[in-house]
Amino acid sequence: MEEKDSEKKLDFIRNHITEDVSKQKNDGRVHTRFPPEPNGYLHLGHVKSICLNFGIAKEFGGLCNLRLDDTNPVAEKIEYANAIKQDVKWLGFCWDNRLFHASDYFEQLHEWAIALIKKDKAFVCDLSFEEMRQNRGTLVSPGKNSPYRDRSIEENLELFKQMKEGEFPDGSKTLRAKINMSSPNLNLRDPVIYRILHKEHPKTGNKWKIYPSYDFAHGQSDSIEGITHSLCTLEFEHHRPLYDWFCENLEIHHPQQIEFARLNLTYVVMSKRKMLRLVDEGYVNGWDDPRMPTIQGMRRRGFTPDSLIAFSERVGLAKRENTIEVELLEHCLRHDLNKKAPRRLGVLHPLKLTIKNYPKDKSEEVDAVNNPEDDSEGSRKVPFSGELLIDKNDFMENPPKKYFRLAPGREVRLKYAYYVTCEEIVKDEKGDVVEVICTYDPATKGGDSPDGRKVKGTIQWVDAKTSVPTKVRLYDRLFSKPNPEECNENEDFIDHLNPNSLKTIENCMTESGLDQIETGIPFQLERIGYFCKDPDSHTLGDFILNRTVPLRDSWSKSNKN
Ligand code: ATP
Ligand code: MG
Repeated sequence: MEEKDSEKKLDFIRNHITEDVSKQKNDGRVHTRFPPEPNGYLHLGHVKSICLNFGIAKEFGGLCNLRLDDTNPVAEKIEYANAIKQDVKWLGFCWDNRLFHASDYFEQLHEWAIALIKKDKAFVCDLSFEEMRQNRGTLVSPGKNSPYRDRSIEENLELFKQMKEGEFPDGSKTLRAKINMSSPNLNLRDPVIYRILHKEHPKTGNKWKIYPSYDFAHGQSDSIEGITHSLCTLEFEHHRPLYDWFCENLEIHHPQQIEFARLNLTYVVMSKRKMLRLVDEGYVNGWDDPRMPTIQGMRRRGFTPDSLIAFSERVGLAKRENTIEVELLEHCLRHDLNKKAPRRLGVLHPLKLTIKNYPKDKSEEVDAVNNPEDDSEGSRKVPFSGELLIDKNDFMENPPKKYFRLAPGREVRLKYAYYVTCEEIVKDEKGDVVEVICTYDPATKGGDSPDGRKVKGTIQWVDAKTSVPTKVRLYDRLFSKPNPEECNENEDFIDHLNPNSLKTIENCMTESGLDQIETGIPFQLERIGYFCKDPDSHTLGDFILNRTVPLRDSWSKSNKN
């Protein structure tokens, strides 16, 4: 799946930038930014944007800023801003001392609004938002000029001043750019650039009673920071003429906006607004629920930064909306974890295995390989005794033909330990097997037979006395439909939630010492899958594991390339 760097084809954005650099546009500088609005937690779509912006800056020897686009105090919170910073850092990207806020520029933006008024390119409008909507026209019919459009410059300056001083209630007036109510582009039909909002701002407190619109703040913030290429998602394509109009009419540094398609993924929703609903209405346990495609959720689940970065590169850039299959994400995750994750032993459904010829009260340690993909990880000692636990799925009383694990009379290898043969079974009153009694061959220590005797099955185990009681949370798709947003008239994406997306197995057992591992660091339970310790372990007092992803990878088999 990996491409060599030299073979990588440039995408349309990198091509565009390469050309600009070769023409010495902006003196050959490349400066990008990642500009989230702190109104929710970052998700996988943002990962793509982060990798793109920081990645391009690095590739072209340029810089990338982190800018919090905080122009709407109604939805924004410090909690979100802090999480954003944490997440970008966790992914491994660095903004040095270039953390900015759109609110850092409120003074300058206000001055620029006055500059537009003075050029007769902005006016104070008394229409309500509803009236403006009605006057706006449609894609096929022009809009109507506001009756306030011809106010004198002096009157506009005075009214805008009063707006700023808080003399009018919310929504009673706006400042609008004076462009063209018959433009085929609706964004150019005298868009609102300032609105009245008596609301405390997390950074500027109660200083401002007016706040700039997204369009008035975004391009100008880019301009102030000397951004050369402003990369954003497709929904802003029709805003680009307005972005350009502001830069031209204010006669300021003019960054190039370039749009790319949003990343969508099957079986999740990827919009902060929808995720907020899942959190607020209690369908998931917070923004960092391991089923959520948020960075914090995926991190808690055991995703690594490298796997997310590899995924972002793998999906590439498109000019049209598309949806990526979640299997590709999981493939990138497994690919990374297979190389890095330490191997450990555990059983999800313990079944007692007693070795009757193993000396009572004896115990020993066997050597277990930490990572067969990485010799430098060495091996560790794992306790072994005559009382073990294996997984119920690894024993069958009446096995079908191709079952090679343990069965009456059958010999198998206990990984890293010995060959054992099942001699007897013990059942409870319901007839379920509750114990298998085996003999072992002391000559097979380490898992190989000196006489060359072969066994077909190898199973994992834990020592009954020293292993750790463990709860395991298994996650399935959060939604039961690949595209949960595709709804009939009387449906909602919530209707497509998968009721079985979380299943907890209570009585698992894992090898001694595993409970001391740090939270969020993924490891492989051999033959089962990748897991990591959940932070709830500290608050609930149990050892709780999240299953990051099962071992089986159907993607690489069905999508060979
Ligand atoms: P949402 O729709 O989830 O609220 P947003 O676009 O409003 O997302 P912002 O905080 O404005 O979120 O996004 C910051 C940057 O991340 C923007 O440049 C935006 O274009 C980009 N971005 C957001 N979602 C995606 C996505 N799904 N794929 C790629 N880039 C994205
Ligand atoms: Mg947004």
